[in-house]
Amino acid sequence: MQRNRNIIAVCFFVAAFSALLWGRQAAGPAAQQQPAPADDPVKALVERLDLERYKATIKGLTQFGDRLEGTDRNRAAVDWIEAQMKSYGCTNTERLRYTRTLPTPAPARTQGRPQRNIIIQSGEIRTGVGGSRYRGIATPTDPNNDPSKQPDPSLRALNAQPSASGPREEVYCTKIGTTHPDEMYIVGAHMDGRGFGEAANDNGSGTALVMELARILNAPDVQTDRSIRFALWNSEEGGLNGARAYVEQRAALQGKEDPPGSGRYPEPKWLGMIQHDMMLWDHGMPRADGSISPEQRPEADVNIEFQSTARFADQAMKLAFFFRDANEKYATDYPAAVGPHMTNTDSTPFMDFAPAISLRENERGMHTGAGWNPHWHQPTDRYTTFSDKDFRLGLNAAQTTLAAIAQLAGATLKK
Ligand SMILES: [Zn+2]
Repeated sequence: MQRNRNIIAVCFFVAAFSALLWGRQAAGPAAQQQPAPADDPVKALVERLDLERYKATIKGLTQFGDRLEGTDRNRAAVDWIEAQMKSYGCTNTERLRYTRTLPTPAPARTQGRPQRNIIIQSGEIRTGVGGSRYRGIATPTDPNNDPSKQPDPSLRALNAQPSASGPREEVYCTKIGTTHPDEMYIVGAHMDGRGFGEAANDNGSGTALVMELARILNAPDVQTDRSIRFALWNSEEGGLNGARAYVEQRAALQGKEDPPGSGRYPEPKWLGMIQHDMMLWDHGMPRADGSISPEQRPEADVNIEFQSTARFADQAMKLAFFFRDANEKYATDYPAAVGPHMTNTDSTPFMDFAPAISLRENERGMHTGAGWNPHWHQPTDRYTTFSDKDFRLGLNAAQTTLAAIAQLAGATLKK
């Protein structure tokens, strides 16, 4: 009886697999893993990304030190980003304004984080943020809050002004869709940082990625069916305050034509929110003594996360796998992996309003949360800390998002 059941199961499997193959053939060549055709606009757009340009944009952001919110260096960075976006042809820049009151005294260390190196035992379940589970080695993750820890005197001077409560601004600009201007994808990253370094990785790397995509998608010969908004959130490090303010102020405006009959949609309907936060470093698990490999691991990957508890979890999961597929077809060096524990970044405030995902160097919970990036929020988060192998991981994330968004928004090149 058991054997018969197995035979039936095998027959069913073969039938199902044949149907799957047939379905793929019926769906045409696009459904198969074949190289993109020579005139593929997605491939042409992805080829406009360039490692040296991406690095130069990160370097440009580091001239404002750690870009701590509520400081002149943060405001100067917002101005610089806006000027760059305009120069790329994303000329309709706007600013979202909100007020931030800093907590007094500063909040205590987050509970549950390792305060020393911990070796997680076989079978031990130690949970992290976002529903994650730590494995292997966990090391401390406390941010540096002491400006004097920066050994470079000129950077120490640049980062000297403390953060103050008060008004905040963040900038965004929009590529308007030609046939569906009332719908958009939001491509975001937070531009503020902390730790009294240069916030090169967290989050110069994500900010530069969004800026490079804005440059390419706003070129005069590119058009898209749907709109794409490029948003550089502020105050992420204080608790996602800039993204939360955006959702609070603008969620109800979605899809409304204003003024009526004008064909203008100040807040197109949110089809998806894609956040980029820490893109460069995937050096693997720390060793038992807490030290970490100085080299990018050859198996490094882009981690695409959705949140399984979100209202739009199913749609976000589909979006995440669409991005993974875009990586497989178009990214040059590093693969992408999907996980269900997106957390602690600006896509979180959006996740109950629209499909929201994040792209990162590591999973935020079980990798970053376990201290696998020793430069996170530290004075060592500087441009010179990272190698071309690190920068190339960020570039592959840019290729992934550009390829996915170009397809989703219906990008074409004018002849
Ligand atoms: Zn970050």
